[in-house]
Formats: sequence, structure tokens, C-alpha cells
Amino acid sequence: MDPANNMLSIQNLCIYKNESLLFTLDTSLLAGEILTIMGPSGSGKSTLLSWLSGMLYPAFTAEGKLLLGGQDISQTPSHLRQIALLFQDPLLFNHLTVAGNIEFGMQASKSNSKKERISKALASVNLSGMEMRAPKSLSGGQQARVALLRVLLNEPRVILLDEPFSKLDSQLRQATRELVFEQIRQRGLTAILVTHDQSDADAAAGKVINLSNTRSA
Ligand code: ADP
Ligand code: MG
Repeated sequence: MDPANNMLSIQNLCIYKNESLLFTLDTSLLAGEILTIMGPSGSGKSTLLSWLSGMLYPAFTAEGKLLLGGQDISQTPSHLRQIALLFQDPLLFNHLTVAGNIEFGMQASKSNSKKERISKALASVNLSGMEMRAPKSLSGGQQARVALLRVLLNEPRVILLDEPFSKLDSQLRQATRELVFEQIRQRGLTAILVTHDQSDADAAAGKVINLSNTRSA
């Protein structure tokens, strides 16, 4: 894959909350790169992710442009942006099996090839044969991996991570983080990680932006 294809550029972004400036941001990242966003509570980290995904709350207004692979998607509706969100809660549907959760939202295709893709994906995160299990019967780390696959098999170009590892204990956190970052790099996705944890930022090994320092810009 051409790494310029999923290049994400945030150009001259100013986010206002009820008409007063919350933060500014101007940056770009290449496919496989993970940008870390830090900053105190209330500095606008989640608001930034809402803007990126095209779902800004009405209290906010934005100026600036968002380009993906050189194309301006600032006005593109959320569902057409190919930008996915991964949260700290796995948010799995308990009335569906593991396979049902992963299949949710996957592009329509022959059910045979879907099945095959799901079982391959499960194997790639050490969950071989777990298709028919109930999400509740899995450990926290296993649920986190299913949530990751559900996002990845939707084939996003960008993945937004809002404190995705904060509910996992430290050993599991490290292992899950490595796996998520490896999948991002392998697939040539662009990623933005919101975290309070310096070790997450270190593992992401990319640019770190502190939103609390951007207001004066
Ligand atoms: P962070 O994720 O960095 O903690 P947020 O982006 O959630 O910060 O919030 C930024 C500011 O906007 C805070 O002052 C917060 O109280 C406010 N805020 C968050 N969500 C909304 C909303 N839906 N409507 C109005 N104000 C909001
Ligand atoms: Mg937040």
C-alpha cells in the first residue's frame, strides 16, 4: 500500500466551545503513524476525535480542514469517512456471538468468505475457534481484541483510539497495546491515540501533542 494513501492532514483547525476558543491544531501524519494526544481533562481531546469522525456536538464550532489521502473530507458525512473509533469499553453486543459481533457492519459479501475472514482475523489475535462464544464468557483482554477486530474488519483508513487500554491491568495493557499497534502498522492505517499514560505514548513512538499548550497558537 502507498503510505501517502492514508495520510491524514489536520489543517488550521480551531475548535470553539460556545464561541470561545478551546484549542488549535495543525499537523499531519502518514499511514502507519500513531499520533498521541495528551492534555488535562476538559482540554478537548474527545472533542477532537468527535470532529475527526464528523460528529461534533452542537455546542462546538470548527474552522479548518481535514484531508485524507489528499482529499478534503471536512464536509463528508461520518459514515463515509472511513474513520473508526475504538473506546475503552469493548461495547460488544451480548446477544450476539463473537463472530456476530465482528460481522456487525462488515461490508456485504458472500457469507463463506466472511466466515473465512473472521476466522483468520480471530487466529491473528490468538482467538482461534472462539467464533460461537458469548462475549460475556471472554476475559477483558479477549473482549478488547474482539472489539479491535470488529473495527478492523470494517476496513477503516483511520482509527481513533480514546483511552483504549485504560481499563486493562498493566501486563494486559502492554500486550493489547502491542497487538493493536502492530495491526495498525501492518494494515497501513493512520491512528490517533488519546491517552493519559506516558507508556502508551512511548509505545506509539510517534509525535505527541499536548492540547493544553495549543490554545495560544
Ligand atoms: P477531554 O476529552 O480532553 O477531557 P472534552 O473534549 O470531553 O475534553 O471536553 C472539552 C470541553 O467541552 C470541556 O469543558 C467539557 O466540559 C465540554 N464538553 C464536552 N462535551 C460537551 C458537549 N456535548 N456539550 C457541551 N460541552 C461539552
Ligand atoms: Mg475525553
